[in-house]
Amino acid sequence: MDPRELPGVDAVLSSEASRPLLDRWPRALLAGALRREIEEARHAILAGGAPSPISCAALADRAGRRLAAELEGHPPRVVNATGTILHTNLGRAPLGARAVDALVRAASEPCALEVDLDTGERGERDRAIAERLRAITGAEDAVVVNNAAAALLLVVDTLGRRREVVVSRGEMIEIGGALRLPDVLERAGATLREVGTTNRTRVEDYAAAIGRRTGFLLRAHPSNYRVTGFVEGAPLPALAALARERAVPLVEDLGSGALVDLSTFGLPREPLPADSLRDGTDLVVFSCDKLLGGPQAGIAAGRADLVARLRRNPLRRALRVDKLVVAALAATLDAWRGARDPGAEIPALGLLLRPMSLLDSLAQEACERLRSALPAGFRLDVVESEAEIGSGAQPGARLPSRAVVVEHASLDAGRIAEIFRAARPAVLGRVARERFLLDVKAVLRADDLVPAFAGPLP
Ligand SMILES: *Cc1c(COP(=O)(O)O)cnc(C)c1O
Repeated sequence: MDPRELPGVDAVLSSEASRPLLDRWPRALLAGALRREIEEARHAILAGGAPSPISCAALADRAGRRLAAELEGHPPRVVNATGTILHTNLGRAPLGARAVDALVRAASEPCALEVDLDTGERGERDRAIAERLRAITGAEDAVVVNNAAAALLLVVDTLGRRREVVVSRGEMIEIGGALRLPDVLERAGATLREVGTTNRTRVEDYAAAIGRRTGFLLRAHPSNYRVTGFVEGAPLPALAALARERAVPLVEDLGSGALVDLSTFGLPREPLPADSLRDGTDLVVFSCDKLLGGPQAGIAAGRADLVARLRRNPLRRALRVDKLVVAALAATLDAWRGARDPGAEIPALGLLLRPMSLLDSLAQEACERLRSALPAGFRLDVVESEAEIGSGAQPGARLPSRAVVVEHASLDAGRIAEIFRAARPAVLGRVARERFLLDVKAVLRADDLVPAFAGPLP
């Protein structure tokens, strides 16, 4: 085809093929998309790549698809077949129905976010959350900010500024997203005082480090790694006793925010805020969108006088959560407190507890459907798999699961992963030992694994 024979923008716009598109989008927007399509077609022809004529209908169709893709919204929906339940890159915990309702209501109508309806006075937006946390964890008071990293920053800035923060060398953590504990301390103007060694830190090590400049003692839950072997940490009650005797606060960064003892469900135990506070910690810090199963937020909870100082810090205003988070978090905490079966109300927990019989039938069904949806070159099978909690919680814990393995006579695992990623909704699996796996642990319906594939498949 000669590039001069390509239809112009006006010709395509006045063609029959453009009519449904013009009903959907403004004329100028469609014209812009067509201009780009025509330009690309011209380049393709000049590069020798487009031998057959390109019609008005074909150009309109391409422009329509391009606009639909550009305006599909963000972030696009995906299916999490990675086997990592709380995947930070995929938005961590899914919210329960109650939390979603509360969030939608708060989003669309005015709500008493910072007004006390009894007195008519101005109130605190996180007061209701603090009350719920008191009931659940025994904390005297709490502040809610953007995420646990922000809560930690607020604590360090309030209690550790121009002071020393005592941390064990075994807990010098880096959390996903390149958040390093030493960097947070430095940014907030605190000096890090390291004690002990990577594998052993005793109460006496902390005792020797406490002096006039000590701001507080910090314990950090090594959530995304494990030190095994010859390991000794200072027991919390003993550390708390030391902190009380020397009148310095003890703060613990718990990370995951589990609110119930997971060992009752046969899962490894995560430290609970309630246990830590009962053992004498003055403040605990934890995330709301990991095992707590709520929206992204972070909490610092514990002694009322310390929380009052956190509240007075001007940084808190910059780190505060919005009404959608307050609504979804309050509803999630109510679900934890009021549910007879928390697994049914908190999807993050529900996914964790799915029985093998369900995973098995889900994988079998998905496998059958995919077999009919994919060309004959693909080979499918159901295999045993190991899922994980994710978000740094329980790094060692492998949760038995099932996966559909997708193979192809002439495509490698990376290429198959690409095909599933290009589908709508995009299906994200994982590649293990050169095989592409769709783990069903966090997949809601078998149908989710059979998306609309893009273009003809090999
Ligand atoms: C995940 C984690 C954090 C950070 O939590 P965010 O809510 O993502 O900011 C901090 N500390 C520990 C130990 C964690 O596991």
